[in-house]
Amino acid sequence: MEFDLIVIGGGAAGFMTAITAKERGVRRVTILEGTSRILEKVRISGGGRCNVTNASWIPAEFIGNYPRGGIKLLESFSRFATGDIFDWFEQRGVKLKIEDDNRVFPVSDSSMDIVGCLERSAKEIDIQIYKKKFVRKIIKTSSDLFQVFISDDEYLFSKKILISTGGNPSGYKLAGSLGHKIIKPVPSLFSFTCKENFLKECSGVSVRDLDLKILINEKLFFL
Ligand SMILES: Cc1cc2nc3c(=O)[nH]c(=O)nc-3n(C[C@H](O)[C@H](O)[C@H](O)COP(=O)(O)OP(=O)(O)OC[C@H]3O[C@@H](n4cnc5c(N)ncnc54)[C@H](O)[C@@H]3O)c2cc1C
Repeated sequence: MEFDLIVIGGGAAGFMTAITAKERGVRRVTILEGTSRILEKVRISGGGRCNVTNASWIPAEFIGNYPRGGIKLLESFSRFATGDIFDWFEQRGVKLKIEDDNRVFPVSDSSMDIVGCLERSAKEIDIQIYKKKFVRKIIKTSSDLFQVFISDDEYLFSKKILISTGGNPSGYKLAGSLGHKIIKPVPSLFSFTCKENFLKECSGVSVRDLDLKILINEKLFFL
């Protein structure tokens, strides 16, 4: 089977890219998801409510919330900013609301509205979605097509591919195998693992405007 675009990974990034590409004229688009569940992280995001974005309207200010990316992020957010996210979802029937701390959620407070919207939007424009298709290998053929392997006997061809595999190491390996240089990723959100039992009682507590001092391996961090 031959496609114009194969999107590897059925998460938020994969769905948005597939839908945008298709709407802009790329003809045969498919999403290959390695597990049995698409958009799983979106489903659990924001405690099941999905914090879609933040009501921050000026891209130059918005990028200050990210640990790095600077000018590259500014380029992206200048093309598709917070207001565009509101329009994107509202045009597809999902109303968003802004909470007191500027976080944006679906009015329903259910991440399933976002999951449903992305899935429906893809299906409506004939994007084929395949589950349990974990991509193991990609090679570039002599006819300038990508051959995307699920197994030695199962493969698809595509003119273009997009690797949107989130933090899964396979994505970096696939990109590396095609000659791409990987810039070491850094987390923007992460959790702490600690031995102290008393801290477990704080689980679920969220605090604003916090100054944090952490000692890890005798090194002091101020956050
Ligand atoms: C608990 C939690 C809460 C969060 N809450 C929020 C929130 O409220 N708001 C927010 O903006 N962000 C939130 N995030 C972060 C957000 O969920 C992620 O940034 C976002 O989902 C990443 O999307 P992605 O498409 O890049 O990657 P992913 O969602 O990780 O999708 C990648 C997909 O690729 C598949 N895959 C991987 N390797 C292969 C392969 N080789 N072949 C085929 N498929 C493959 C994976 O199975 C996965 O489905 C939260 C994250 C967590 C964990």
